[in-house]
Amino acid sequence: MRLSRYYLPILKENPKEAEIVSHRLMLRTGMIRQQSQGIYSWLPLGKRVLDKVNRIIREEQDRSGAIELLMPTLQSAELWQESGRYDAYGKEMLRIKDRQERPMLYGPTNEEMVTDIFRSTVKSYKSLPLNLYHIQLKFRDEIRPRFGTMRSREFLMKDAYSFDLTREGAEHSYNKMFAAYLRTFSRMGLRAIPMRADTGPIGGNLSHEFIILADTGESEVFCHKDFVNFDIPAVDTNFDDADGLKAIFDKWTSVYAATSEMHDEAAFNAIPEGERLSARGIEVGHIFYFGTKYSEAMGAKVQGPDGKEHIVHMGSYGIGPTRLVPAIIEASHDDNGIIWPASVAPFDAMVINMKAGDEGCDKACETIYAALTKAGKDVLLDDTDDRAGQKFATADLIGVPTQIIAGPRSVAAGEVELKDRKTGHREVMTIEAAINKLVG
Ligand code: ATP
Ligand code: MG
Repeated sequence: MRLSRYYLPILKENPKEAEIVSHRLMLRTGMIRQQSQGIYSWLPLGKRVLDKVNRIIREEQDRSGAIELLMPTLQSAELWQESGRYDAYGKEMLRIKDRQERPMLYGPTNEEMVTDIFRSTVKSYKSLPLNLYHIQLKFRDEIRPRFGTMRSREFLMKDAYSFDLTREGAEHSYNKMFAAYLRTFSRMGLRAIPMRADTGPIGGNLSHEFIILADTGESEVFCHKDFVNFDIPAVDTNFDDADGLKAIFDKWTSVYAATSEMHDEAAFNAIPEGERLSARGIEVGHIFYFGTKYSEAMGAKVQGPDGKEHIVHMGSYGIGPTRLVPAIIEASHDDNGIIWPASVAPFDAMVINMKAGDEGCDKACETIYAALTKAGKDVLLDDTDDRAGQKFATADLIGVPTQIIAGPRSVAAGEVELKDRKTGHREVMTIEAAINKLVG
């Protein structure tokens, strides 16, 4: 991508409305734009990051055995009347009427709809276990939308729904998601702590929220410090091995961690003083096992091996991609801007032409740009005629992991400078060495 032809509406001033650093940086870098209260457009730079976040989520969902589909955002009120949640949901639900005056709603979640799909298509235990997921927009008319896409009214959610014949089966499904979530967040450079959580309006009895510790987080959380030492499940984790997954679950739930709703002061105070942490956090995921709550109300049953009908056991599992992007920024930035972990960076590298129009600089930059692009890297080439200082500031602000700086004097010697955005480390090397290092 050539910056001269890209759409990157960077703001010079810090936006006044932004209270937290991630919101400020997302507006300044032109990643998002507010369209109305709590409703955002994702501009090209933001969209790139969001796509990378979604790709990681997808890969880990698929790895765990979940299967992707796509359900509509608009739902018929009838389904929600069946489950009993149409009246219970309250003002967070956006209710609409179509031209025939039929009540509809913009889905805040999809338990009812997926249960409807299940009950009309799955008849036998032989089709189980089944876990269906999608990455789809949701709408919740939040009482206090704030912090940009951290708490918006329209937001993206990955929501998965598991169906099992028995409670034991459902617990295995729960543990699959538990391990997949640890892997997912870790791949984005985040250590999310699973904490015992309240099940809220979803209902049920087993639930964990995945929390990123951050001073700007909206949740008040309490946990043991040991979490920093726990191993993330390996890439070759066997998701069919119920005992292996149970061991991961047991390890990660072996020490105290709870959100304020589930907090047990006495249990927390029993932890030695230096080993406990009372902090704030951002909820990036939430998993629930709720048994037969929806399947019972909506008649989702299968024929079991005994020839009889069984109500299925269900769980649901959410991740907020549009909240994860600001959460990553909260965890990784400095005074100059964002520092993207390589896995979600909008570009892998940024080539900075210090003197566009200079034959040597142009040639060196084009050579590097072509070689990296050919190797499948996402490269942004700053070919504008902005001042050098401004180019450096932009590169630091948008936080691409590696900067390749080509100035007239260095290219005359066949060299460029590589700068690591995170460490600030600079290294001069030949153009060829720079290409090899990045293609590596
Ligand atoms: P919160 O407690 O933050 O209001 P929730 O418990 O209502 O969230 P869930 O129903 O568990 O949220 O939704 C699953 C995930 O969707 C959350 O873990 C979060 O990552 C994301 N999410 C929920 N509400 C919002 C929102 N208003 N804006 C952005 N992401 C959201
Ligand atoms: Mg929640």
